[in-house]
Amino acid sequence: MDPGTGALLDISYAETVQEEYTMDYRNTYTIEGGIVNLPYAFIQSFYTDKPPQYQTIPSSRLGTVTYWPGQTVTGIYEMQNSSKIVLTHRNVQDLSSTAEAYDYVVCAIPYSTLREVDIKPRFSNRKMQAILEYNYTNSQKTFFLCKERFWEQDTDYGRMVGGFSRTDLPIQYIFYPGDHLLCPDLSSCPPHEPGVLTASYNYHMNATRVGNMKENLRFEYIKESVEEVHGLPGGFLDSIVADHKTVVWDNEPYNRGAFAESLPGQKQLFAYEILKPEFNQRIFFAGEHLSTKHAWMQGALYTGMNAANQLACSFHNYSFFI
Ligand SMILES: Cc1cc2nc3c(=O)[nH]c(=O)nc-3n(C[C@H](O)[C@H](O)[C@H](O)COP(=O)(O)OP(=O)(O)OC[C@H]3O[C@@H](n4cnc5c(N)ncnc54)[C@H](O)[C@@H]3O)c2cc1C
Repeated sequence: MDPGTGALLDISYAETVQEEYTMDYRNTYTIEGGIVNLPYAFIQSFYTDKPPQYQTIPSSRLGTVTYWPGQTVTGIYEMQNSSKIVLTHRNVQDLSSTAEAYDYVVCAIPYSTLREVDIKPRFSNRKMQAILEYNYTNSQKTFFLCKERFWEQDTDYGRMVGGFSRTDLPIQYIFYPGDHLLCPDLSSCPPHEPGVLTASYNYHMNATRVGNMKENLRFEYIKESVEEVHGLPGGFLDSIVADHKTVVWDNEPYNRGAFAESLPGQKQLFAYEILKPEFNQRIFFAGEHLSTKHAWMQGALYTGMNAANQLACSFHNYSFFI
């Protein structure tokens, strides 16, 4: 079995079908210059008078944006005798608290951390149940900064330009950088250039098990696994790997889980309810965890668009069907 599918065997079959049936892997896109250009484009649009991203909307109708980073939302409250919503925030640097009142809110906080936000009055029973119970899967990635790209060399252990290796080892996948695929010829992108290898990318139990090994043992273990997969002699990578870095999404304070993946029955139970606004159509919801494309940016972006449309329709008293 493909190790990715195997690692996620106990999640709802609908998750697999929702990707495979629509052939998502045949329709993937990259952003020229790197994915970081997506958040940069958003941030630049906040500070530009005539953002090129919104050419069709007159600037007088764009409103103003106050971007307030470094704030952890700690409470969401519906004010009594008023239609306002109060959010309490905590500054991540000095831990000072602030409270602000808003007309409308779009809440895109993942359930893994929304779970501890104080919500009063409570949202619908079913939504509170989803916040409590919705399943998240762990994931782990370890990157090796390599002085040369042994995997691209024209030898039996190489010839991998882009793509990935599936393994049945706990490291699960090895991903090879794809930048040299774009090179006009081999001489302009030689394999003795440095490169970053995703030496291990895994999900669920493998992520927890490999991710929580002691750092030095984990590094040695992953290095030996990569040597094994590539048929390299033991210790071959010692002089090639200059640095390494591991991320375990369960251990990241603002994620505490990599992606939402429904367990059997959770989709039927929650999929409709979690998209419904609360507090008399004043708070709307967005984020990957609400979408039918879990673990994809596409899902997160689509729910954002949906929430913005819901909010605009509510403001103008139009009906909106989700
Ligand atoms: C290992 C991994 C690999 C992936 N690979 C791909 C891929 O190849 N292609 C793809 O399309 N997608 C991929 N994804 C999925 C993609 O990253 C997500 O779908 C997307 O980032 C979800 O966006 P989001 O805004 O819903 O949530 P997030 O990006 O998680 O944003 C949520 C934000 O809320 C903040 N937050 C949390 N708690 C609070 C709080 N209390 N107050 C204020 N802010 C808070 C967090 O800091 C975070 O910035 C991958 C995800 C992972 C983990």
